[in-house]
Formats: sequence, C-alpha cells, structure tokens
Amino acid sequence: MTSDADSAHPAPTDEVVDLCRDLLRIDTTNTGDNDTSVGERRAAEYVAEKLAEVGVESVLHESAPGRANLVARIPGADPGRDALLVHGHLDVVPADADEWSVHPFSGELRDGYLWGRGAIDMKDFDAMVLAVVRHWQRTGVRPPRDIVLAYTADEEAGSDYGAHWLTQHHRDLFDGCTEAIGEVGGFSYSVDDTQRLYLIETAQKGIDWLRLHARGRPGHGSMVHDDNAVTALAEAVARIGRHRFPVVVTDTVRAFLEEVSDVLGIELDPEDPETAIAKLGPIANLIGATIRNTANPTRLAAGYKDNVIPGRATATIDCRSLPGQSELLERQLRELVGPDIAIEYIQRQPALETTFDGDLVEAMSAALRAEDPGARPVPYMLSGGTDAKAFSQLGIRCFGFAPLRLPADLNFSALFHGIDERVPVDGLQFGVRVLDRFLRTC
Ligand SMILES: [Zn+2]
Repeated sequence: MTSDADSAHPAPTDEVVDLCRDLLRIDTTNTGDNDTSVGERRAAEYVAEKLAEVGVESVLHESAPGRANLVARIPGADPGRDALLVHGHLDVVPADADEWSVHPFSGELRDGYLWGRGAIDMKDFDAMVLAVVRHWQRTGVRPPRDIVLAYTADEEAGSDYGAHWLTQHHRDLFDGCTEAIGEVGGFSYSVDDTQRLYLIETAQKGIDWLRLHARGRPGHGSMVHDDNAVTALAEAVARIGRHRFPVVVTDTVRAFLEEVSDVLGIELDPEDPETAIAKLGPIANLIGATIRNTANPTRLAAGYKDNVIPGRATATIDCRSLPGQSELLERQLRELVGPDIAIEYIQRQPALETTFDGDLVEAMSAALRAEDPGARPVPYMLSGGTDAKAFSQLGIRCFGFAPLRLPADLNFSALFHGIDERVPVDGLQFGVRVLDRFLRTC
C-alpha cells in the first residue's frame, strides 16, 4: 500500500488509468455537426457520477441536445482568494478505425501506453484532474482556494457549444476565477538523460479562418472562356499557400528560444531563429509555426458538372495570427488575393499571450521540479487554439498546463489528432503527482 492510498480506495496514480480508459471508451466524436456528434453527454454524466461518488456536486449545462458541459466548484480553504479554473474538453476529433493499430475507442493498454482517440487530447488531463479531486475528497484535502472544474463540449469544432457558450450564458459559474489551467502544455521534451524541458503554454496564436469567394461568368466547358471563377480562385489559393509571412519573434518565443539554445548549446541568431528551431526535431513544426503568421488552404469547392464552368468558387484558408497581428494578416491576405476575390471570415478569435512569472508559474515549476529533478520549465506559444480563447474573454489569465513526462523518443506533437494516439501510463501517473502538488500549493 502506498502512502497515497487509504485502505479502501486505490491510489490516484492507479485510479487515473481506469478513469482515463473509461473516458476513452466513450466515443465523443465531434464532427462539427450537431446531428452526427456523439457521446459528450454520456462522458459528462460519467464525470458527474465520479464526482458525486465522492461528494462533489456538479451541474450539467446543455447548449444543444447532447452537447453537455459540466461545471463544479470545490471550495477552497481561503474563500477570500480568487479562484482557479481547471478546464478540459470531453470531445475528440474523429478517428478512422481502419488506420489504427487498435480500435480508437477501445481504451486498450499495450506496451505501457493507454491507446485511444483523446488519450492526449485530452481525456488524459480530464482523468488526472478527476483522480486528484477524488483522492482529496476521500482523504479530506482542501485546496488553498476555490477550484472551478469545467468539462466542456465542442472544443474540437471551435467551442460554440462548449466554452464559448458557457462563458456567454453562464458567466456567473466562473465568478472570482482569475487564472486557469488546461491543455496544451506541461509536457516534456528530452534534452538528454538528465534534463527535460517542460513546455508551459503562456501564449497561443489567433484563429483567422476565412473563405475566399471568386466569381466569374458561367459557361460551357468547351468554349474559349476568360472569366473562369475556378481559375481565379486557384491562382489566389496558390499564392497564399506558397507565401511565407515575415518572421516576428514575440516575447514568449524569444524566452523559449533563449532557454532552448542555452540548454541545447545551439547558437541562436535573433535574425534567423529558424536555424535553431530546425534542430528541435519532433517539436520543430510546433515551434516553427509560432514565429510567423501562417495560412494554409484546407478546402476547395466549385462546380456541379464536368462540362459546366461555374459562376463561383470558394476556398477555405486556415490562418493563424501572432499576438497583435490579426489586422496586419488581413491586409497581407488582401494584397495576396487581389481585388477580385472576396474574403469572408468564418472564425476569428484573438491570439493570447501572458507573462511567464508570478505565483502560479512558480507553483507549476516547483511541482514539476519536485517530481522530476531534471525539469526545466519554459514558456511557449501554441500554434493552435484551445478553450482558453473563451475563458480569457472573462479576463482569466490562461495557461496550458496538463503535465506529462514523455519518453525521449515519442513524437508527441504528431499524436495530436493523429493515428494511434496514446499516452504513456507512467506519464499519466507523473501528471497526477504533479497536479496534486500544484493544486495544493497554487
Ligand atoms: Zn484538445
């Protein structure tokens, strides 16, 4: 029996495996369409049940049939202090079973990993938090300040039925919350056997999804035709797709690169950060996207018959802007596509950036170091977006901190939305220990 466990209950480091596996077995695929998205309500009810078992009351808030969000407040020892929000989404992106080594919703334990869609994004964290809270309730631990738990729907499709809906319709649930932790941060990147960087997310890029509209003269595909919407659109898409936006090194990325070049012994040329980034191996893609605005064409639509020239054509471009660069990016894009193509924004959410300092950052760093003496916590910018976008609208300072110690050879960033998504069991257990420490001292 470890000191973590009492006689009747499993240690949280054991229980987290079962909790995570149960959650992985609930298919919560978010297709981006209410009619075909499934499982969020079942997953939220599961969490509610696990909380109720240990006496934590939670409330389920449905934004649309089946789109369930769960919120609970755990009272802290000092009611005078501001609350901490701990949030995790319950939905996952789709997975095609044919492409996987195991069934993506089997929650299989194999080779020291727990496999399944959501294993790192982010049912791992959902389960860790649940394991810590259940352990506290059973053993009478009270956090130093109020903790608000939010298990959300719809993060993978922009959070309109999840965090954005919650913050717009149930703002009061987050009263007093000034800081938050959630995905994507706190994971390790091995420098060597004795040192690991832990990337804590203090910034994330803005989401600037847009649709290009080209118009032309419809006509017969056999004729000479000089006003073809498909041609005009294709040219604009190609220009955007091939364009490289200028490098801009923000405070967060500078702090990250300085730390990384120090620990790896890489020469960092501030004029040319890409050379240093290229040496980062599996996280080079992740970090490389945070030194410039990006724009990737993702969808094309035009036409309805092989021999008919359509009058219109559209393309979707997934753009991500650096903090403070969204307007500039819009001007850059207008210049690229020219005057004849219309730009329509379909999602626009600002980038976030906070500083890597203060008591909360201290508590995260101390908890990591206590569990891994070789830990070097560093701030970084996420190239994607999370529910933090919604919570930051309430003035909450958001961090990505879902601690995981990872094997040196694991290509972690490729597992996000990837095939054979899986989480190392010992990493999951490490996360529970770090969170337990952090949440007791934050
Ligand atoms: Zn996620």
